[in-house]
Amino acid sequence: MNTDSDRKIHPDKVLVIGLDGATFDLIKPWVAEGALPTLQRLMREGAYGELRSTVPPMTGPAWTTFATGVNPGKHRLYDWIARKPQSYEFLPVTALDCKAPMIYSLLSQTGRRVCALNIPMTYPPLPVNGVMVSGLPAPSTRNTITYPTELYQEILHAVGDYILYPDPGQAYSDSGVDAFLTRLYKTTELRIKTLDYLRSREAWDFAMVVFNGTDTISHALWKYMDKTHPLHDPQQAEKYGSAIHDYYQHLDSQLARIVDTLPDDTTLVVMSDHGFGPFHKFIHVNNWLMREGFMKLKPGALARIKHTLFRLGFSPMNVYDTLMRLGFGALKREVVRGQGQGLLKTLFLSFEDVDWSRTQAYSLGNVGQIRINLVGREPFGCVQLGLEYERVRTEIIERLKTLRDPKTGELVAETIYRREELYSGDYFEEAPDIVFLPRRLEYFGFGEYEFGSHKIIEAMKRGISGTHRMNGIFLAYGAAVRAGVEIQNAALVDLAPTILHLMGEEVPAHMDGRVLTEVLRDDVTPIARKRSTTPTPTDSNGGNPNQGDVLSAEEQKVLAERLRSLGYVG
Ligand SMILES: [Zn+2]
Repeated sequence: MNTDSDRKIHPDKVLVIGLDGATFDLIKPWVAEGALPTLQRLMREGAYGELRSTVPPMTGPAWTTFATGVNPGKHRLYDWIARKPQSYEFLPVTALDCKAPMIYSLLSQTGRRVCALNIPMTYPPLPVNGVMVSGLPAPSTRNTITYPTELYQEILHAVGDYILYPDPGQAYSDSGVDAFLTRLYKTTELRIKTLDYLRSREAWDFAMVVFNGTDTISHALWKYMDKTHPLHDPQQAEKYGSAIHDYYQHLDSQLARIVDTLPDDTTLVVMSDHGFGPFHKFIHVNNWLMREGFMKLKPGALARIKHTLFRLGFSPMNVYDTLMRLGFGALKREVVRGQGQGLLKTLFLSFEDVDWSRTQAYSLGNVGQIRINLVGREPFGCVQLGLEYERVRTEIIERLKTLRDPKTGELVAETIYRREELYSGDYFEEAPDIVFLPRRLEYFGFGEYEFGSHKIIEAMKRGISGTHRMNGIFLAYGAAVRAGVEIQNAALVDLAPTILHLMGEEVPAHMDGRVLTEVLRDDVTPIARKRSTTPTPTDSNGGNPNQGDVLSAEEQKVLAERLRSLGYVG
């Protein structure tokens, strides 16, 4: 006998709209004022809740955790950069460095059609069963960003143009904001057209697009919207105070069309990789480590800088004070952008000035990552594994707990983790030894340029005015989803298992995340698909392509510059 449920729809396709850095901290008030009717509809007719990001909440590792359903200890991407073995150097990472299989590969291997557009950490593009256009860290738009290769020309022909992302550097001066916004809207328009084109071209089972604009505009223009921001200028705010709001509204209206035409067999997921909030100050972790005695300089390093300043016409009483007064932190960033590498080396401290034989810890990474200078792991390690390692780590943590902002007296480090509290897996050994999240993330640990400044805590004078938070967003909508449910305790790591489940696919046992069963309707169950073997994370490259060194030295430079201009690298 045919029952009702036999005739019911069994959705087994998923469409994911990624809004990089989107946050309910903005969405909820704007929904309340009626400005975001589509997101409001998804909240009312679907399930939603905050999505806990990776620690630290950075785009590269976060989207990798989204795609793999595992923590960085298993996928290996802890940052946009990774330490070159046996050195103190860090290099940009790409999808080739990811050691866990991504959902795009898993679905391809079970015969499902994949359509993936602009997802961070999918460069070089994966050879999927379907199509892929890489997101960051793709160094430039050219045909190496698509799979298959010829797809790039096809998109240009069908859509007219393709822009990876607008240059946020433009928005860091008031005079560049208009040009930035024009480019941002153009990028968005082209991305939507490309999505429409790919969705109509492919008989897809899994389609996904990520819009970076929500992240880029929030990094660049937060200060105009936020009256409490130290860089808030009421005059400029009249012009640009609603820019972020308007961009969210624009995306909401685009989303309306997607929701209205959503096929019955498809579940829609709208999500972000992390949240967003104001950004006020840098913490220069290496300078702090130096002040606390965990890092030592070679004899003569400071004398060399004093000498250079003298030659340049300065006679500093105190080299630190002088550098601060002269705003040399900003100058250094200019020098890094230009050619003055020689000047850079003589004017600023670098890791070449560090006496590694007497240095117990150093920082390299975007948000509060501290590494112990360990015997056997670091080239000039001086801390022994075991009791000494634990003693040094504990000492650093105890001192971090007392680090205060000299201007406000407030404690700076909000949460401090030993690496085993965050990460586990085959690539655990590559994790930073300590990770701390600054207070409300208004401070941003900034160590990757060795010595970003000569201060420990430095107010941001220009550049980014907003930065990431731990709480991203999750919304799901469709026949398989319960209506009007606000969920708690969902994490980014849960999305790959949940999407696989929604598609009737097996959830591999190695995944750390769980299926978010609380958003699913009990009476609409996905039809279990025929199983084929899925790779384990220890497979050579997790099913990802392996083509050796994918970035040339020139591309690495371009990429580092792009990440820096996006506010990821100091
Ligand atoms: Zn992001």
